[in-house]
Amino acid sequence: MNMIEQMAGHDHEQVMAFQNRAVGLRGILAIHDTTCGPALGGVRIMRYASEDEALADALRLSRGMTYKAAISELPCGGGKCVILLREEMKRAEAFEAYGQLVESLNGRFFTGRDVGITDEDLQAIARTTKYVAKEPDLALGDISEHTAIGVWHGMRACLEFAGLLKSGKKIRVAIQGVGSVGMLLGRILQREGYELIVADVSAERANEAGKELGARVVTPTEILFAECDVLAPCALGGVLDAETVARVQAQIICGCANNQLATPEAGDELARRGIVYAPDYLVNAGGLIRGAEYFLLHVADSKPSLARIYDRMLRVLQLAKERRASTARMADELAEARLKQAKSFRDLYWGGAASKSSKTGN
Ligand code: NAD
Repeated sequence: MNMIEQMAGHDHEQVMAFQNRAVGLRGILAIHDTTCGPALGGVRIMRYASEDEALADALRLSRGMTYKAAISELPCGGGKCVILLREEMKRAEAFEAYGQLVESLNGRFFTGRDVGITDEDLQAIARTTKYVAKEPDLALGDISEHTAIGVWHGMRACLEFAGLLKSGKKIRVAIQGVGSVGMLLGRILQREGYELIVADVSAERANEAGKELGARVVTPTEILFAECDVLAPCALGGVLDAETVARVQAQIICGCANNQLATPEAGDELARRGIVYAPDYLVNAGGLIRGAEYFLLHVADSKPSLARIYDRMLRVLQLAKERRASTARMADELAEARLKQAKSFRDLYWGGAASKSSKTGN
């Protein structure tokens, strides 16, 4: 299937393949939807088996960002960039060249950290564009911390809905992946007095987390099926499929990992089993909320907006119950409703994407 057909399949606005041979840079930048505002999305660097795989990743991730922005009622849309990790790449120069590309989009796309990106990469991007969430930036704050706080608010809503907050019993949470967000979430939960179980493919990381959080360490294969109240997937996507969903013991699934459901049917099965599933892009939107408030709205402190994740999560749980739908499908419906409304407003007002005055100068 060609690129334009794939774009049409998920309604992408623009996809750019780019290269700079001198510095060994190759990548794909996908802008999914800018109806509600400029596209925000990180850049990831990975070794892809093929260009098709990189394209699929960029398309899937940028669309996810649009849904995340829409359900969070933010004035922005979704985008994502993937860079192909190659031996011949001159890393610093390549990220400077990527920054030039972002700059040339003139604020239509804002970028930041995603998988594989180091502090040095972000510094290199920031040398050539202002449209980047560069850390450390005291005014912006730590994006991962905002994500972790958001997940915590979403988890509180799930616990409330499931009646566990008032039960008085000590709540046990199993965290899969104690990287940036997983570890920060673990610290919040430890402060709240929760009992923790952790796992990571890095045994060193898992043991350090176990020590610091007073958590029981289990293997990466055990964590998904641990006896606990809440399972928090904080590693990679696709962990909830037909096989794993059948064996999960938790009453609630709420974590930061993107694309946790391998298929929409996995979400239906969780609902059928009575397991409360927190749609990933709803509860992990804290970092995006911070980015949008910092860049677009110039808000100094995003903590109050992060707390709204509690309200949104609770509302999605109520709606899903009323309509006998899975929470994942309910979240999709809400995100799509917001996009549809914004598009019909834009079309009614401007008769399409461009205003007359921008064409005529009036
Ligand atoms: P990270 O790379 O810092 O942490 C991921 C951790 O998971 C690592 O310690 C890794 O070793 C571990 N891991 C990988 N596979 C595992 C497995 N099978 N079992 C157990 N552990 C495993 O990444 P992060 O920034 O903490 O992000 C984690 C997830 O959250 C990713 O899916 C990311 O896309 C998503 N996310 C992150 C943010 C953010 O602000 N960082 C925002 C939204 C979503």
